[in-house]
Amino acid sequence: MSPKKPQPGAPSDAPEPASTIDELIAVARTLEADFPGPRSVIPTRHLAIVACMDSRLDLFRIFGLHAGDAHVIRNAGGIATDDVLRSLVLSQRFMQTREIVLLHHTNCGLQQMTEDEFREYIAREVGEEPPYEFGAFSDPEDSIRRSIARIKSHPFLAHRTHVRGFVYNVETGTTKEVS
Ligand code: ZN
Repeated sequence: MSPKKPQPGAPSDAPEPASTIDELIAVARTLEADFPGPRSVIPTRHLAIVACMDSRLDLFRIFGLHAGDAHVIRNAGGIATDDVLRSLVLSQRFMQTREIVLLHHTNCGLQQMTEDEFREYIAREVGEEPPYEFGAFSDPEDSIRRSIARIKSHPFLAHRTHVRGFVYNVETGTTKEVS
């Protein structure tokens, strides 16, 4: 399905391989006919999910959700950064969400190095320190507890009662709640 990569030494007039984005656009065009119709901007489950960007986490399948059900806020690690809090405040104050699920997972990229190792690696590559933290952690449950604590102490949020965290096991597809 995907185009062959040019081999080293291949003739320079070989056609440029199509990019993945080109492939996506072609698929999007064919799927437009299946559009099920417009939905409300208010998430029907009144739920926001904060999750890691990891490509193995299919949030809609894991939780049996559909388009229109929930806000989904993702970043590396699924950490409650300032920008995640900003999105949650807007989600609750303007779009009626009242519950928050955090989803981290086993074998996360942010567990592979320490914060200092991430920073030193980038500084070596670029020549300067990045202006933000990467949020490295060794235990996904600890990371979730820190994010839950941050959300629960954020006074701009309207609803802080139903905030729960889960770790998704990427090897077994099971989801475990963090107490
Ligand atoms: Zn991750």
